[in-house]
Amino acid sequence: MTTPNTFPASAASLTQFDPQALPVSAAQAIVLEWVTPLAQSERVPLRDALARVLAADVISPIDVPAHDNSAMDGYAFDGAALAQGAGALTLTVAGKAFAGHPFTGELAAGGCVRIMTGAPMPAGCDTVVPQERVTTQDDTVTFPADALASGANRRRRGEDLARGGVALRAGRVLRASDIGLMASLGLVDVKVKRRLRVAYFSTGDELRSPGQPLDAGCIYDSNRYTLGAMLRRLDVEPIDLGVVRDDPDALAATLLQAAESADVVLTSGGVSVGEADFTRTQLQTLGDVTFWGLAMRPGRPLAFGRIWSGGRPGVGRAALLFGLPGNPVATMVSFYQIVRPALIAMSGATPQPVPLIPARCDAPIRKRAGRTEFQRGVAGRDAQGQWHVTPTGSQSSGALSTMSEANCFIVLAHEAADLDAGESVDVMLFDGLV
Ligand code: AMP
Ligand code: MG
Repeated sequence: MTTPNTFPASAASLTQFDPQALPVSAAQAIVLEWVTPLAQSERVPLRDALARVLAADVISPIDVPAHDNSAMDGYAFDGAALAQGAGALTLTVAGKAFAGHPFTGELAAGGCVRIMTGAPMPAGCDTVVPQERVTTQDDTVTFPADALASGANRRRRGEDLARGGVALRAGRVLRASDIGLMASLGLVDVKVKRRLRVAYFSTGDELRSPGQPLDAGCIYDSNRYTLGAMLRRLDVEPIDLGVVRDDPDALAATLLQAAESADVVLTSGGVSVGEADFTRTQLQTLGDVTFWGLAMRPGRPLAFGRIWSGGRPGVGRAALLFGLPGNPVATMVSFYQIVRPALIAMSGATPQPVPLIPARCDAPIRKRAGRTEFQRGVAGRDAQGQWHVTPTGSQSSGALSTMSEANCFIVLAHEAADLDAGESVDVMLFDGLV
């Protein structure tokens, strides 16, 4: 590992690549190398724990289920009775057991207990015959003995989770099932990492905020809205620092404020080499930031490094910095491919690869070898279950409408060249279930 003050332009891992044609995979690896997971944690009530990152293993304080219980509505009895020969077995019903109301009586040989799903197995019983299989007469039930194995339809104590076992591992991003699982252990709160604080702002004299009049030559700022929304999906704490003019002093002031208050700072615009691209010069002054030309489309220019609240490297508090390109789709793609994995790792979560689905591409695709492309597509399955994908019309890095139209990225590998219709491509779906 390199020392903190040689960030990351001189990182050993970077020198083998041209920083102006950095492969996406190399950029992802370098970024992760520089991420330090959050150390601080806090306890939150279960109902507030969804999407938070587990800070310590959850150890089960009890067996779940806490007792052997019935998996069916039926009749509980001692399975040894099944061994007494083929044919029908007739048992005498000695009482009832409901979930929450166990049978506490004595069970004589040849006896059984009427039992409901979830009710504790009465002492001496290990098998349940489902009620559909029995015929009842007076206080007896009769059923074919050979259709049932001893121990059938019984859930064992601790079968789901054993007391003292690891129920959930640290680093997990908590889902609905995890919240329920912790509730089933009787836990009322859980230790999670504190939320990552992410400051973000847009840069550009041409930007107006929704609600303001649109002056000649101006456009509405959309990046702050997509960034804010994508950050909310990651359950980090977003800090919106507004729109900053193309003015070096205004940029410096906002960057210092961001470094003071946030763990990570995201900017959009101003990182290419235009005459108004002051973000670039300010980042160079206030931090140790490297400028990459990613071998990626959309989203070529990207700044990555740290900025310091004291105004120069090594002074004050450091925040990780991502300078994203200004074009709206490039901003989104850079966020998903480069920033998102870093934020997840920095939040203390164990990063999980995003699944790729092979699909047949229904249109030819123009693709230049030597860069990874993330084209917008609409994917679905045909009647035979085969996945298909069609690229959306425009692949312009400014056309946000095609991001809305699409339901996936078509991921075209670094080496891939033009594709014919019918060839297989990988798609990354926008939506997941849980
Ligand atoms: P820049 O890198 O600052 O030259 O920006 C590249 C392109 O993205 C320009 O056409 C900008 O007008 C546009 N752009 C920059 N920031 C935003 C933003 N926040 N919302 C919408 N478009 C933007
Ligand atoms: Mg600009």
